[in-house]
Amino acid sequence: MSEAVLSQILVTLADLKASQQLLADKVDKIQNDSVLAQTEHHLRQKVAHYHNSPGHSDSDGDTIVSPTFATEPAEHIGVYTEKPVLTTYPDDEGVKPSKMNWGESDPKARGPIVVSRLANSISIRNAIGAYGGSYSIYRSLAVAMGDLPADHKPNFENTQPPIKIRQQPQWSDSSKIVSMDPFGHLTNEYYKQEIKDGLDVRPTIAITRAHMLVPELVAEVKAGTLKVDGKVVVNEAAELNVHKAAIDPVWHLPGVAARLNVDEDFLRRSLFENTGGMYPELISRPDLKIFLPPIGGLTVYIFGNHELLSDPNTRLTVRVHDECNGSDVFGSDICTCRPYLVFGMKEAIKEAQNGGVGMIVYFRKEGRALGEVTKYLVYNARKREGDTAAKYFTRTENIAGVKDMRFQALMPDVFHWLGVTKIDRFMSMSNMKHDALIDAGIKILERVELPDELIPVDSKVEMDAKIAAGYFTNGHIPCASELNKTVGRGWEEFHA
Ligand SMILES: [Zn+2]
Repeated sequence: MSEAVLSQILVTLADLKASQQLLADKVDKIQNDSVLAQTEHHLRQKVAHYHNSPGHSDSDGDTIVSPTFATEPAEHIGVYTEKPVLTTYPDDEGVKPSKMNWGESDPKARGPIVVSRLANSISIRNAIGAYGGSYSIYRSLAVAMGDLPADHKPNFENTQPPIKIRQQPQWSDSSKIVSMDPFGHLTNEYYKQEIKDGLDVRPTIAITRAHMLVPELVAEVKAGTLKVDGKVVVNEAAELNVHKAAIDPVWHLPGVAARLNVDEDFLRRSLFENTGGMYPELISRPDLKIFLPPIGGLTVYIFGNHELLSDPNTRLTVRVHDECNGSDVFGSDICTCRPYLVFGMKEAIKEAQNGGVGMIVYFRKEGRALGEVTKYLVYNARKREGDTAAKYFTRTENIAGVKDMRFQALMPDVFHWLGVTKIDRFMSMSNMKHDALIDAGIKILERVELPDELIPVDSKVEMDAKIAAGYFTNGHIPCASELNKTVGRGWEEFHA
């Protein structure tokens, strides 16, 4: 970075800081207002109080202050800083982020993700955002209502994964994993001491094992088209054996920017503005590179031996699925989501039964990450205007401004985490998912279409439109005039 750019940044930061001081003064005044005073009183009534006491020292010899319970009256320092800190700046007194070497292979040298704003860690935060993705908002409600002490320390005893996910070389390649913490499932193990010393550090990945029952697959077992092997399909009742991992997003902003091929500063500005200015440190703390965004994460379902996922000689069948609540859970027939999901599960299970591994990766990206409200608006417009494949994408674009906001570029990270380097059978027709995996260096040997008999009649519109737009098919690609002829159910055909 040139001196000129650097000094420009410093000037901008100084300006920001000055306006921050003005704001802080205003907040001071507002604090005398009864609402805030009441809130504070309420908090003091409900929440156990701390006072700061000298804690352990970190390796540099600087004292990290650990909290201890106190019996002193409420006037003493609480769980939060006495006044709300609207934002911080790199050169603020006392600001000293805990070490964070993203891409480091040794988790101790990498350092824990410290995102808590409690009084005892706000000065050593090395990440922006909050633990729990979108659920951080519900946590805020629980704290505001006094149901949850803001400084509640989770008891992590016996929460560790039942299986070992072997560390892969990809974990220490900062270009390969940019949207999740590869050590996120082992937080309690690697950062035990920090947690014991009172630092609020939490896992961002949890792994468990489960049995599942899927009605369509119960029917397949009854019909004899899916066999009981006692391992994956456990019994005649069609109980399925599965390991699953829930993963919250942890973004390394320079890596995310590089992956999306955008400028990091502008990405930060856009995140700041489009979340209602929720995270000012995206702007004021360019030194903090980690962001825990308030969005849904993903879940990986693994059928068969997870240890073979990174073995290139083991066959692997995969479906990457983006959430569609209407179809996945409630059986809406306007799209092919649940049929493809269940077909993907069935083929994944069969692969596992044949000695390979099967995997479903389920992303919380409802309605192409446009959300269900936008999705229903689009449905209405489609149904009122004559639902044809030719107009399928146009209506979404008219309303949302884009066809799709899933931006699959970040999707392959979970494959790198599991050490996957090739997929034998890819249970998806999406060219965007396919291209993202290929760009990530993951080979795809076969792409498997959804069989015609599994496509609901009303979802033909979606299927034809997608195929015409580049979705994979071994079959016929509809031309423009054919797209006009693929028509979905009209409003008048709905039963009152
Ligand atoms: Zn759907």
